[in-house]
Amino acid sequence: MMTTNHELFQRAQQLMPGGVNSPVRAFKSVGGEPFFTARADGAYLWDVEGKRYIDYVGSWGPMIVGHNHPHVREAVERAVKNGLSYGTPCPAEVTMAEIITRLIPSIDMVRMVNSGTEATMSAIRLARGATGRNLIVKFEGCYHGHGDSFLVKAGSGALTFGVPTSPGVPKANADLTLTLAYNDLDAAVRLFDEHGHDIAGLIIEPVAGNMNCIPPKDGYLHGLRELCTKHGALLIFDEVMTGFRVALGGAQAHYGVTPDLTTFGKIIGGGMPVGAYGGRRDLMQQIAPAGPIYQAGTLSGNPVAMAAGLAMLELIQAPGFYDQLAARTRLLTDGLQAVADGEGVAFSTNRVGGMFGLFFTREKVESYAQATAADSAMFNRFFHGMLERGMYLAPSAFEAGFVSSAHSEQDIADTLEAARGALRAGRAG
Ligand code: PMP
Repeated sequence: MMTTNHELFQRAQQLMPGGVNSPVRAFKSVGGEPFFTARADGAYLWDVEGKRYIDYVGSWGPMIVGHNHPHVREAVERAVKNGLSYGTPCPAEVTMAEIITRLIPSIDMVRMVNSGTEATMSAIRLARGATGRNLIVKFEGCYHGHGDSFLVKAGSGALTFGVPTSPGVPKANADLTLTLAYNDLDAAVRLFDEHGHDIAGLIIEPVAGNMNCIPPKDGYLHGLRELCTKHGALLIFDEVMTGFRVALGGAQAHYGVTPDLTTFGKIIGGGMPVGAYGGRRDLMQQIAPAGPIYQAGTLSGNPVAMAAGLAMLELIQAPGFYDQLAARTRLLTDGLQAVADGEGVAFSTNRVGGMFGLFFTREKVESYAQATAADSAMFNRFFHGMLERGMYLAPSAFEAGFVSSAHSEQDIADTLEAARGALRAGRAG
């Protein structure tokens, strides 16, 4: 007999906390049970029951060229033939570092790691080590992985489950993280006036993607850059989501702001577990073994992961790639807005490059407070209405969505049709 999603979830819940290996996947926020993916190709996922979904999550961002792209898959197949891990340097690491430093001018040197969480934890250790200061500034609703310093008023799963600060994070540790409202420059100025001399670094998602999707206001990132420079704190852009997503050069290229350090993940692994952090040479030279600030990883720079990432980076450098991605994303968000308007549903969207956010509110959402005030019950009904119709949106009102180059105009048209049905059904419910 065919395995069902329900049967797998029953088994999984006995064996893994919440039945999953990462919280948001469990559908706790939207209710119901997750489906189990059997395979993925292009813009689609197929669950174990054979149902197809148009996927707007894309493994939470990395599948920017669609799932199972032959160029990436073949690069992995070639790499696998030469062994899975060496524990010595390998040539692909050097090529990867050359490409990242060429595409992102603020990065003179880079260190590969295995996840976004590792990248951000390492970046703040570097910020503290380099400045000799202890305080870190982050923004309410921003998520930087699950490091102790970041689980303070965090976004993503932490926000979804209403545990903005997790048990297990020592108070002494949380006290070193100061939080600010995103997109409020005056508040940042006040905080730096008071604590500036103790602040090692300010870390920000330059486009917030873990409280839905909220772009920075005009001049906001520039203002933060000036503040950090004035007070001798490092500006850290967490581009785990936005890197190679909102533009080839990431959010820093899109908005023309130069951070001191940048963290990456997801996309540069092409679907393999990868992250990276990098920045100014004088800072990166302080990382071991060049300098005294320790950070390491047995599997970092793994040859198979590097092969996947390099193949992915080749594809996204194709001329016009980002224009087309942005145009597709616009087709989706403008289309959804028109459908919602037609149905008389209060709705607004945000969009930067291949990243988008959907809000059940009439307001243009520019803040965490507005994002959390939008109608999340309506979102949950919409999510399930879409899921029934074969459309997979992120299973939380507090996550950004992603379009890939594999999403066709027909896929978008089908999505809009499904949205009309879901909104009608949702309102009736
Ligand atoms: N930073 C940001 C901006 C993220 O969106 C995420 C994960 N979604 C992380 C860091 C953590 O990355 P990972 O899940 O690979 O540890």
